[in-house]
Amino acid sequence: MSARPELGTTKSFFRKVRPELYWFHPPDGGELHVVVTKVGLVLVDSGLLRHREVILGLWRQAGLDPRKIRLGFMTHFHADHVGAMGWWSREFGFSVVAHANAAKVVEKGDLVITGTKIPYAGFDEDFVPCPIRHKVVGGERFPVGKHNFKVSAAPGHTVGSIHILCGDLLFVGDTLFADGSIGWMDVHWGSNPEDYVHTLEQMRPLCGALCAPGHGPPFRLSRTLIKRACKIVSFYIPLGHGLGFPRVPRHSPDRAR
Ligand SMILES: [Zn+2]
Repeated sequence: MSARPELGTTKSFFRKVRPELYWFHPPDGGELHVVVTKVGLVLVDSGLLRHREVILGLWRQAGLDPRKIRLGFMTHFHADHVGAMGWWSREFGFSVVAHANAAKVVEKGDLVITGTKIPYAGFDEDFVPCPIRHKVVGGERFPVGKHNFKVSAAPGHTVGSIHILCGDLLFVGDTLFADGSIGWMDVHWGSNPEDYVHTLEQMRPLCGALCAPGHGPPFRLSRTLIKRACKIVSFYIPLGHGLGFPRVPRHSPDRAR
């Protein structure tokens, strides 16, 4: 979920960003990314359930076979990103990686925490509960063929957000977008501004990496974008700025209570 209405409903398409990286853009909701390895495909996020046929159509156009998916990653538990992952993993028989804190939410299919039903925002989606075979906390590696997928905890936008690094490719979910904007902050999904800044700071050593975000086009990670995002997030730090009190406890790996 990004606080960016201009992303609304658009024409769906796919892009072959690199020989091994495909970006799938459904009419609305979150992006999907696919990494092509010698032993099969790796799926990062699934998008909304109601877009599965549109997305499968784009896969056919791209010449990709979903039966070759070997592993799925959930960047975070929001329905616009993973509302369909339970369907994909059952339909095509692959296991899924998610943060241990997100696993509890997606295995149950909690409609509030996942932002599946938000009447005032016109969100009335579906969420297919998804079994999580690989519950991670950060630092885990998943080799698929010659590719290595390294997970890091990335709390801030939500509890249970992760980033996945594969070579110089960084999947960042809703942490950061191409214009330096940030994911939707809300206590219902455990947003925490201090954690968010911590997560953004953790990304600094990766400047230059190609980021694949949860909304919008891939972009090169830069100090400028991190700085801009930190500035936006820091607005929420003063308790008077409306992110609610008591503040959601911190979940940054080294600061969690
Ligand atoms: Zn989100």
